[in-house]
Amino acid sequence: MHLRYSYRICPTVGQRQALSRTFGCARVVYNDALTLRKAAWKADRSRIPTGVLAKSVITDAKKTDARSWLGSVSVDALQSSIRDLDTAYRNFFDSKSGKRAGRPVGLPVFKSRKDSRQSLRFSRNGFRMRGNGKLNLARIGDVRVKWSRALPADPSSVTIVLDSSGRYFASFVVDIEPDHLPELDTEVGIDLGLTAYAVMSDGSVIDDPRFLRKAERKLKAAQRALSRKAKGSRNRAKARRKVARAHARVADTRMDWLHKQTTRLIRETQAVYLEDLNVRGLARTRLGKSVHDAGWSTFRRLLTEKAARYGRHVGIIGRYEPTSQVCSTCGVLDGPKPLGIRTWACGPCGTSHDRDLNAARNILAAGRADRLNACGGPVGPGVAIPRRARPVETGTHRNAGRTGRKPRAADAAGIPVP
Ligand SMILES: [Zn+2]
Repeated sequence: MHLRYSYRICPTVGQRQALSRTFGCARVVYNDALTLRKAAWKADRSRIPTGVLAKSVITDAKKTDARSWLGSVSVDALQSSIRDLDTAYRNFFDSKSGKRAGRPVGLPVFKSRKDSRQSLRFSRNGFRMRGNGKLNLARIGDVRVKWSRALPADPSSVTIVLDSSGRYFASFVVDIEPDHLPELDTEVGIDLGLTAYAVMSDGSVIDDPRFLRKAERKLKAAQRALSRKAKGSRNRAKARRKVARAHARVADTRMDWLHKQTTRLIRETQAVYLEDLNVRGLARTRLGKSVHDAGWSTFRRLLTEKAARYGRHVGIIGRYEPTSQVCSTCGVLDGPKPLGIRTWACGPCGTSHDRDLNAARNILAAGRADRLNACGGPVGPGVAIPRRARPVETGTHRNAGRTGRKPRAADAAGIPVP
């Protein structure tokens, strides 16, 4: 499996100039190639092969006066730029045909000198690791790297990124074998909320760190300072970097926190079940700021990636399951409840529920049912909302104590075990 490992790098002043030249050339090559492909598509719906494209926008272009400066940078970075355009097109077509999951990918767009993030990539031919720990980049030189952790394997490519706050990163792609952890029998359903970050079906809670809200005053002050500076002035550029740095700090803190939470969950749990929230839809409402701050889609992505790496299971249950309306004890559908209602008592069985904990238990039951279904287990129709979902804590099932065997997922969904 392919993983990314990112490190801060500290290029010298000369190296920064060389990098900035290469960013520019890679961008021009990308845009030229995109122009040609668009024109060919418009003319006769044809796709120019990558080799032909590379010859005309790199090799032949270098010989012209208008593009002679392409010769001053690494040709590997320029070729990678064309391959990146190919990937962008492939992602677009795969997304359109449904081969690619996730949000729809649009057509590739032109890159600009003013983009807040500049990047370029080197293939295996464009970089080398030096014995002294420096990273040698073609036509750039030996760049100092802050090795915050070791690279687990030989990287196949490196992307150099300059972000909006002026920081440089080297992001390596490494191909490693999945590192499966010993199997556990723990399962957990997670309800992502707004009062707490997440509530687990075992009753534990992850508190909402609210990084953005906490940093809001500082961000606002920096933003105000920026708006007072004259357009095009040096002071404005400085103030813009300050705003970008303040945002970057929030993003870094949040990412660090998300990594810690997801790593802990994956280490302790064999199967994690989540609700498929319409995050993009929610973010458009007045809850917007909290939803973005919570970083739920990142939380889910990190969980899924780590599960694949460590041999765990992440199940996403359908968006329209009424997890907050069903009693997790007796399975009665009790009707919709406004967000303001945090606790309620079930009419038929009398159990009093915490809204989020009840939802987490329903998510666990639905996730288990889905997983059994996918494995070809003996599940009949209509298990999407288990009407008779029993309490699902490990060890509470009546068979568990009597026979001494571990409770199986099938027990929880109310399916007789032979
Ligand atoms: Zn009930």
